[in-house]
Amino acid sequence: MQNLWPNARLKLMETKCNPPLFFDEAATTKPSEEVLDSFLEASRNNWGNPHSLHAFGYKASKVLEGARFKILQTLGLEKTHALIFTSGATEANNLAIKGVARHYVNRGRHLISDTIEHPSVLHVFESLREQEKYRVDFLGVDREGKISLEEFKNVLDKETILVSFMSINNETGSCFPLDEIHEILKEYPKALFHSDITQSIGKTPHFSYKNLDLLSFSAHKIGGLKGSGALIYRKNIAFRPLFEGGGQESGFRSGTVDVPSAIALSKALEIAIKKQEENYLRVENLSKKLRKLLSKNPEILINSPEDASPYIFNFSLLHKKASVVVEALSLRGIYVSSMSACSSKKETMSHVLLSMGYDKERASNAIRVSFSAELQESEIDYFAACLETILKELKDR
Ligand code: PMP
Repeated sequence: MQNLWPNARLKLMETKCNPPLFFDEAATTKPSEEVLDSFLEASRNNWGNPHSLHAFGYKASKVLEGARFKILQTLGLEKTHALIFTSGATEANNLAIKGVARHYVNRGRHLISDTIEHPSVLHVFESLREQEKYRVDFLGVDREGKISLEEFKNVLDKETILVSFMSINNETGSCFPLDEIHEILKEYPKALFHSDITQSIGKTPHFSYKNLDLLSFSAHKIGGLKGSGALIYRKNIAFRPLFEGGGQESGFRSGTVDVPSAIALSKALEIAIKKQEENYLRVENLSKKLRKLLSKNPEILINSPEDASPYIFNFSLLHKKASVVVEALSLRGIYVSSMSACSSKKETMSHVLLSMGYDKERASNAIRVSFSAELQESEIDYFAACLETILKELKDR
């Protein structure tokens, strides 16, 4: 990197933002004080094992059940759905997809998903296809990251037992038409509908949670704690557990439940949903502003479609290496992602951008900016100005 910009490094360090500007909310968020307080309070006062039969266990179990009910109620699902706590969306996705595929195998062996899912969905379907001989159709996407509903109708058949589409793509923010998919699925009652809602929960007003049979998400994308999440499922559905053990969580997820994390998740969701509409409008304004500022620069190719979630904005650099620009921004105290955080260390190209039909150069040099509602408009201006300076200072790749 030093070869690319020998004099720039020190200059950039002199102008470091303090506190740093965090534009990587799709990777993780800072836990709020209220969430941390709720976790500590439960750790101090409800550290009993909720599965113990004595009064201390009972107290912890009451608190746990309260958190479970509250999450379902916050999403309007308390009558129709049930919830199990997991270590995050990765586990919830694995449990939903493997669990349903294995439980309903006698009804059919056909599964449908798409090529821009998070690896914790994509690789699970690949493994079911390769290791367990399921028939899997992965729908491709167009330049806007959209699947074709016609193609979806064409691949659906009487053997389809599970369909899985994320709500919002974590790299580009492109949205999936979940309501339309639900309508189509009415003619296929055997096919269950799962969605990884990690990037939309608490961030998308008017989301139709009720249409989904299974929903996965993580706490740490909405001001909660890492290592915590949930799988919500329609009450009449069953699935095989991933691991054997003491049969906790209705037998679907063995292991002593982490009560303080469950409480913290419930608190994080309550706060996110309460501020959801107001935050959405704020972020929409910030995102539009950044799009307008960056679209003036001929070196920048915008990858997020106009109707993407405003929380995620993705663009590629025509002449510069994204990893070098991310580091240059970081030296200025501005934190963005060169790919989704889960893959950036081992892969160099975005499978999402490649699926959208972009070439290898564009897919290797993408930057994801993801917003918090706390950011100020002036900080968007500052980011755009810094990026422009860095692009001028750095040599072409
Ligand atoms: N799905 C999506 C859409 C995500 O963005 C992420 C996190 N990057 C995950 C699943 C996995 O979440 P976790 O790492 O918390 O299990």
